[in-house]
Amino acid sequence: MQTKIRRVSSRPFVGALLAASLALRSAAADNKAEAEPRVIEPGPPPSDAIVLFDGKDLSQWQSVNGAEARWKIEDGVMMVNGTGNIITKEEFADVQVHVEWATPKEVKGHGQERGNSGVYLQGRYEIQVLDSYDNKTYANGQAGAFYGVSAPLVNASRKPSEWQTYDIPVKGEATTAAHFTGVASKGPLMLQDHNNPVRYRNLWIRPL
Ligand code: MG
Repeated sequence: MQTKIRRVSSRPFVGALLAASLALRSAAADNKAEAEPRVIEPGPPPSDAIVLFDGKDLSQWQSVNGAEARWKIEDGVMMVNGTGNIITKEEFADVQVHVEWATPKEVKGHGQERGNSGVYLQGRYEIQVLDSYDNKTYANGQAGAFYGVSAPLVNASRKPSEWQTYDIPVKGEATTAAHFTGVASKGPLMLQDHNNPVRYRNLWIRPL
């Protein structure tokens, strides 16, 4: 039996190998350039978070006029009580804000008068807190809205008195929006007293 051996050029194959090898080396170089992620305990709260309220006291907070914060604390939660907005003593720039909140079980009022409070980033940009469960109001004023600027993508509101959570990434320099002049690169976190007994717990913030 006679076998015909056909010679095939190996050059394209070698070329492909070289290209693959160079690509791998390049990817390896890029990988080495990446900083190794810090190791943290996930919590909650995460080990690199500043705890703003641990259920015991308001030592991280003050009234907007500089006086002592006087919101009510009971059973590990703090509650709006008509004594005015409160702000953190510390100011923050780029952060992740974690807030758990609940509107009153007793449903009173309509629209903006039902379970209204708010989380003000850098003391000026309000992420609305509201009882938006079966409660019509304008879209950019409901729970989860960047108040007066943009509506949330969905209405994921839970029933009154059920705990709800915000995890808000804040990029200070990128927060400029309609209705605001100038750039606030840093500021305190502020919680709104809208005369509705909204409750808060487990507040923490992670500088990014
Ligand atoms: Mg509000």
